[in-house]
Amino acid sequence: MSLKIDKFRYEGKKGFFNIFPKYCKGCGLCTEKCPYQVLDWSDELGIYGTPIVEPVNIERCTACGLCEMFCPDCAIVIEKKRKKKAFGEFLSGIKVKDMMSEKVQAVNTKMSIKELVEEFYRYKFGAFPVVDDSILKGLITMNMLKDIPKLQWSETEVGKVMMPLEQCLVVNPESDAVEVMMDMASDGSGRALVVQDERLIGIVSNTDIMRLIKLRTMFGSLVKGD
Ligand code: SF4
Ligand code: SF4
Repeated sequence: MSLKIDKFRYEGKKGFFNIFPKYCKGCGLCTEKCPYQVLDWSDELGIYGTPIVEPVNIERCTACGLCEMFCPDCAIVIEKKRKKKAFGEFLSGIKVKDMMSEKVQAVNTKMSIKELVEEFYRYKFGAFPVVDDSILKGLITMNMLKDIPKLQWSETEVGKVMMPLEQCLVVNPESDAVEVMMDMASDGSGRALVVQDERLIGIVSNTDIMRLIKLRTMFGSLVKGD
């Protein structure tokens, strides 16, 4: 069964295509966005028992990263060959405040899982910070709900399921983007919460990083001195 396998990894000419079945919900967005028709459905199953995708035409893959960028569940990771050097170059001089999303939608610890699922549908985010009375309490992602039976959704509170603050990756807006990206790569949630004066002021996800890299690839840097 796919979920026993952490990831499937495929090598193309320009890079590696990695897919994590435990995150893939089979929405098909990546197949639509791939400009080279690289992806199609696999026989392997993902988190909801639906097929995951696989690069059936890996020889056409340019490692452009669009599938990774558009996947709402961070189920795909594209590693360009010589990626570390490329990321270091692309994000050189960037601070967390330059790449974070500032409009943060939060939920609270008392919200039920049923209400939370409605928020996931409404905002199409893969995770929410959890905040009570302006105090950051933790983070909750879609994947944290997978073991909760639907019958218990109404009576289970977000605070009982979330990742508590002490386990979250919390960063300063002035932190170096490359260092935070490395920390995120080893962090299970794939997100960093940006805090200043004990208040949540932003969130950084893999999508934010990929969006910034794409901007800098297409339009160059706007960082002072570049
Ligand atoms: S990296 Fe680009 S070319 Fe390769 S599968 Fe993803 S979207 Fe398609
Ligand atoms: S976009 Fe992500 S979740 Fe959707 S099918 Fe592709 S890999 Fe799976």
